Amino acid sequence: MLNVLKKIVQEVSVAPDLESVLNLIVRRIQRSMATQVCSVYLFDPNDQCYVLMASEGLNKEAVGRVRLSATEGLVGTVVVRAEPINLENAAEHPAFKYVESTGEERFSSFLGVPIIHHRDVLGVLVVQQKKIRRFDESEEAFLVTLSAQLAGAIAHAEATGSLGTRGASNDSIVDLRFEGVAGSSGVAIGSATVIAPPADLASVPDKEAKDIQNEIDSFQEALKLVRRDIKVVGRSLAQRLRTEEQALFDVYLRMLDDNALAGEVVARIEQGNWAQGALREVVTEHVRQFSMMDDPYLRERATDIKDLGRRVLAYLQDAAPATLEFTDETILVADELTPAMLGEVPSEKLVGLVSVNGSSNSHAAILARSMGIPTIMGAVDLPLTRIDGRELILDGYSGRIYVQPGEDLLHAYRDIARGEKEQETELEAIKDLPAETTDGFIMPLWVNTGLIADVARSLERGAEGIGLYRTEVPFMIRDFFPSEQEQQQTYRKQLEAFAPRPVTMRTLDIGGDKALPYFPIEEENPFLGWRGIRVTLDHPEIFLVQVRAMLRAGEGYDNLRIMLPMVTSVREVEEASRQIDRAVRELQEEGLKIKRPLVGVMVEVPAAVYQVRRFARRVDFISVGSNDLTQYLLAVDRNNPRVADLYVSYHPAVLKALKHIAEEAHKEESSVSICGEVASEPGGALLLMAMGYDVLSMNATNLPKVKAVIRSVSKKDADKLLSEVMAMDDADRIQLLIDERLEELGIALPAKPILPV
Ligand code: PEP
Ligand code: MG
Repeated sequence: MLNVLKKIVQEVSVAPDLESVLNLIVRRIQRSMATQVCSVYLFDPNDQCYVLMASEGLNKEAVGRVRLSATEGLVGTVVVRAEPINLENAAEHPAFKYVESTGEERFSSFLGVPIIHHRDVLGVLVVQQKKIRRFDESEEAFLVTLSAQLAGAIAHAEATGSLGTRGASNDSIVDLRFEGVAGSSGVAIGSATVIAPPADLASVPDKEAKDIQNEIDSFQEALKLVRRDIKVVGRSLAQRLRTEEQALFDVYLRMLDDNALAGEVVARIEQGNWAQGALREVVTEHVRQFSMMDDPYLRERATDIKDLGRRVLAYLQDAAPATLEFTDETILVADELTPAMLGEVPSEKLVGLVSVNGSSNSHAAILARSMGIPTIMGAVDLPLTRIDGRELILDGYSGRIYVQPGEDLLHAYRDIARGEKEQETELEAIKDLPAETTDGFIMPLWVNTGLIADVARSLERGAEGIGLYRTEVPFMIRDFFPSEQEQQQTYRKQLEAFAPRPVTMRTLDIGGDKALPYFPIEEENPFLGWRGIRVTLDHPEIFLVQVRAMLRAGEGYDNLRIMLPMVTSVREVEEASRQIDRAVRELQEEGLKIKRPLVGVMVEVPAAVYQVRRFARRVDFISVGSNDLTQYLLAVDRNNPRVADLYVSYHPAVLKALKHIAEEAHKEESSVSICGEVASEPGGALLLMAMGYDVLSMNATNLPKVKAVIRSVSKKDADKLLSEVMAMDDADRIQLLIDERLEELGIALPAKPILPV
């Protein structure tokens, strides 16, 4: 049974649209359970009822016509109870409702199972038989398991299905909504440009072919080059392969024939899709067919076709590099946004970002916040291949994306965008004033940087220092490790621009969701793996070069601070300190006039929370990385949109840890700062100030807002808020209380649109 289950799930995952998904499900279930009927009902939000969407066994004319309210019939009972109902004679059940058009009066036994996705009942799967008998336990278990596995695929097909293919007639549909996770607040209205990593067939968008003949010629040229490659490889391996293995190369070549893949791709180009899109369509279709085959040998061919497709695509992309066109209001859309992608669009044209994967504390989202670009992460149902060139509205407050918005919606969002601009102008007035409470307490506000552009933005917004410079960012947008001299030049720009104000440079923090293309780290569990200080201590050559570059860059400014990420033990601190001492000594011997910089430890993991005093005795400052600390304390992957709701900064456990760290650091008279995103939230900043943090470091975008909030409260009010919050048990209630207090204090919260649900 497990094999049957796997196969059905696999087939469904590659089905092209909702109709095929549902038809496939009912056909396969009916056959594998040997029942007379299998049907699927799905919820229609427009008229709040469950519609018979597909059936094997019931009258075909009933499909799409039978509609049951959420409490009607046995289907309604399954919905209300959100659990299976298994009956040997359905007609005897009080909830049974006879629907004439289905012809179901012939069937006695009934097993209905809810299809539940993210706690919502999407629909009901039903099997029926003529014979009066209860479905046995293993049949019920099979259907429940299948339903749980298919729910995601059905939800995805439902969400994406509403958006037609290129040029299709339902282009007239407006206000199509997709849900994601709010990554960076603000509103963006613009046109989508899909960006994909090279040779990634799955994310190639459909596009209108500008010159059909030209597209066909490029495709033929790419084919020629792939054929040549295959022949070369085949010849070079000829001695080592058996005859039947050699024959595989002939199979590959035949697959590329005009009367196989190539002919179909050309036909699709002739219908108007560009070569890359046509190739994706044809390869996807063939992969789907092959992966459904019973014969394991033939099923394996799906991998070959994918590989051939990728090879042809790589040549097509080589021949037409950087074909991306950016409109004046570009919204960049990617399967997985990377810092390098952000740099692809001229900054004056980039108004919004969307990532299908990732969540609000992924590094792409953090960078987007520092650039002040409205961003949606984890938009898992967005049909990447059909979105290029469409008009979008991004709502960076709620995490919603609207495709093909109508005039009313555009109007509402343009108003919000205007409001945001006005608020920004008002905040400019306090740029040069200190973050001073009404009773005279001064809270130093620093910034987090990574990109060169952050420096100017931070200074414009009145930052008093850099609390976290993410040095890995410049490493991520290159093709190989930067040399000591290159690093020195990059770092100097930050140190020079801020001098004499302090600049805290974090040593390379790679691993987790921060990959270097030229230093891949493949791990099952990257957030618990080789990251941060663990990598750099294992590679002293990388660490030393970086520290030397920092020290050189700081010569003459005397404002460098060095900070160590992902520390879990005293031994790591001591080893890193020794390396820093060595670099200082070497450079002094080389004649540089440098002093040992201040060195600090980041508290980002639970183990560090309980060793703050030990660390504080060995270094000059403590800085809390609350983004990681929250992920590790709550056991919630900061990158995973599925658990984004569980990632909460105001969780009582997180707040307790943050307070404890500040108290422990002060016992050793050490300065303690925080550079996680919670410091950028007005409410978070007030709590942290009350906890005694000496510095709050945040994204430049939010700094003026945080400053305005601090300037409008007294330290006494903040202390009172903290003691109330610390006595509470629930993060949602804490959030509500904070919002309420901010409102009472007359502090305008960020404009939140009130829009149709
Ligand atoms: C943190 O974890 O809070 C932090 C500041 O580091 P990063 O977000 O770069 O992991
Ligand atoms: Mg971190």
